[in-house]
Amino acid sequence: MKLPPVDYEAPETVSEAVELLAEHEDLASVLAGGQSLIPLLALRLARPAVLIDINGIDELSGVSAADGWLAIGAMTREYVAEESAIVADAVPLLAAALPLIGHEAIRSRGTVGGSLAHADPAAELPAVARALDAELVVSGPSGERVVPAAEWFEGYLTTSREPDELLTEVRFPAAGPGTGVSFQEVARRHGDFAMVGLATSVTLSDGVISDARMAFAGASDVPARATAAEELLAGERPLAELFDEAARRAIADIDPPSDLHGSAEYRKKVAAALVRRGLREAVDNARERQ
Ligand SMILES: Cc1cc2nc3c(=O)[nH]c(=O)nc-3n(C[C@H](O)[C@H](O)[C@H](O)COP(=O)(O)OP(=O)(O)OC[C@H]3O[C@@H](n4cnc5c(N)ncnc54)[C@H](O)[C@@H]3O)c2cc1C
Repeated sequence: MKLPPVDYEAPETVSEAVELLAEHEDLASVLAGGQSLIPLLALRLARPAVLIDINGIDELSGVSAADGWLAIGAMTREYVAEESAIVADAVPLLAAALPLIGHEAIRSRGTVGGSLAHADPAAELPAVARALDAELVVSGPSGERVVPAAEWFEGYLTTSREPDELLTEVRFPAAGPGTGVSFQEVARRHGDFAMVGLATSVTLSDGVISDARMAFAGASDVPARATAAEELLAGERPLAELFDEAARRAIADIDPPSDLHGSAEYRKKVAAALVRRGLREAVDNARERQ
């Protein structure tokens, strides 16, 4: 299917891109890897007047770790982050999630920033960003702004980014000693978006859970933290009965959608199984990392 007619701009710096966004605002769409935007254009579900292609902005790509944080440029390809030893070492939950995104061909073009800006509630990276309290850095006409992940995802495919702002970088806190992770999901076919996914991170101190973080993908119109389950787990020893109760609390807090792929009730059952599986795997992983 052909794309609709659209003007095309290819800035080479962040400030040029921000100037173009300020000029066109709602009429413009930023083009990153194109893996979500191009199908939307082809299907006439998005009708921007101008495409601002940010593939030529070199300063937007790269991975670095310093002072307990991992910084990833928005245009860093998903497969580059997946192959990065710096990512695997600093934020193992991100490393666990990246290979589950679609297929290799999609990850070779798709970008970390594109996934977070697109904000598909069934996507893996938004769940990781919510679980870990990532920070999203945007640049606009009045400068830079840092948005906590809790304030970034506002609804289905909707973020708190203003039309004249460009997402430039995402920062994830690095995992400390004793932190184990797991990304679990159930999809109908390999490479499909998950029906339900769960990002889990557990920190063990002297055999006790000192920090537990869980965020669902596909359970709501935004990635959803399992706060009640997290509170139950903190300060407890990791035992199967505790994980069963955490699963009950986690699914009491979600109201997943029903669609062609599965009913809300089925998704809740899957979500409970993922909590138990995710906690078991994260705890095993934490013991290995102590
Ligand atoms: C067949 C298929 C299967 C897929 N399966 C999965 C999956 O299982 N899990 C998953 O998570 N994803 C999946 N994806 C989507 C993929 O991960 C995309 O790469 C990602 O969602 C969007 O990234 P992108 O770089 O391609 O962004 P684009 O498609 O270029 O842009 C997406 C949106 O974000 C905006 N945007 C992009 N970058 C910026 C920026 N820096 N600042 C401001 N706005 C920006 C664009 O304007 C657009 O609205 C799949 C895609 C396909 C085609």
